[in-house]
Amino acid sequence: MGATGVVENKENQQTEESLNLFTSTQIVIKDALTKLGYSDEMFELLKEPLRMLTVRIPVRMDDGSVKIFTGYRSQHNDAVGPTKGGVRFHPEVNEDEVKALSMWMSLKCGIVDLPYGGGKGGIICDPRTMSMGELERLSRGYVRAISQIVGPTKDIPAPDVYTNSQIMAWMMDEYSRLREYDSPGFITGKPLVLGGSQGREKATAQGVTICIEEAAKRKGVQIEGARVVIQGFGNAGSFLAKFMYDAGAKVIGISDALGGLYDPNGLDIDYLLDRRDSFGMVTSLFENTITNAELLEIDCDILVPAAVSNQITAQNARNIKATIVVEAANGPTTLDATKILSERGILLVPDVLASAGGVTVSYFEWVQNNQGYYWSEEEVIQKLRKVLVQAFENVYNTATNRQVNMRLAAYMEGARKMSEASRFRGWV
Ligand code: GLU
Repeated sequence: MGATGVVENKENQQTEESLNLFTSTQIVIKDALTKLGYSDEMFELLKEPLRMLTVRIPVRMDDGSVKIFTGYRSQHNDAVGPTKGGVRFHPEVNEDEVKALSMWMSLKCGIVDLPYGGGKGGIICDPRTMSMGELERLSRGYVRAISQIVGPTKDIPAPDVYTNSQIMAWMMDEYSRLREYDSPGFITGKPLVLGGSQGREKATAQGVTICIEEAAKRKGVQIEGARVVIQGFGNAGSFLAKFMYDAGAKVIGISDALGGLYDPNGLDIDYLLDRRDSFGMVTSLFENTITNAELLEIDCDILVPAAVSNQITAQNARNIKATIVVEAANGPTTLDATKILSERGILLVPDVLASAGGVTVSYFEWVQNNQGYYWSEEEVIQKLRKVLVQAFENVYNTATNRQVNMRLAAYMEGARKMSEASRFRGWV
């Protein structure tokens, strides 16, 4: 044990950033369990995933060569039910990141009260440099490699960074071939014609929007005319920009991996969406860009980090001018920065709550697949709203009543169900 009471990862060679994500998750889980009155044994159970599979996937590339890719699937805790969570394709995927992400999925599922535990997968690759054929072979190879531990009642994958409905379709097809029956419930985020759900593509942004509305009510901020800054123009960031723009907010800043655009009078979001490529890149078309670091410090009412982790740190947290920060990305704010924002009276809606809209509609997709009866988009959005408004209220009330910041409150809400389920099963 280290000074923090958390296991040290001395032997492992991961990047500092990912160690940070994993160890900081353990720190908050420990705090949450202590506040909830659970024993150290519960922490011992929940501080690491129950299962972590590493696979090597040979893929025939278009030039005839064979490349071996490394992939992971982590299953954090399955006391509540099957594990659930996305698969990301990214050059910086690593074991600790996948582990941390699977723990966050457990927390998300707990917060929105789904009958799931958390899982996550990833493959070290750069899909931006791969052809469709190579991506298809990689996706199918990954499913063959992890097929023993996944399935509609075991562990249900979904999209995440740089994976989409086409990749889900290939994965579903491969799994169905292996099992020799059609298995739409194996994976969510599928195209509509293969059993996808209405509203799934926009679900994360829809969930973030609901959290923004709830936070704005608590802070007396009017959405109409509010100045909004969004870091990241991928699936969550771009749909969110559109929702905010359509609701009459002024989206004054957006960014992608290369830089940001800023206009104090509001950006033309429809114009930018038209020009965005499939990886969410748009700023390269403009000359007057700002950096991502500058973007975060713009004077605004609502700031939404919707890109990568570790963006708001102890270095810049005092320069954040927003009244409300809503984390659409996973892990954009460090623990030190969380403390600073909370001391400064900024309302921070943590990732495990704000980004739970995606997995909530994934759950709806799985339910629809299991029953073979499909809902309209209005029904899906209405059900999503009900779930997220309740989840926000639970976290906000816990933060207020227990005098803790919103992140710790969210972890307390998230850890409660899996702890209870583990206890009833007699595991702890
Ligand atoms: N990858 C998304 C997340 O991190 C969605 C997971 C899912 O739909 O299962 O929440």
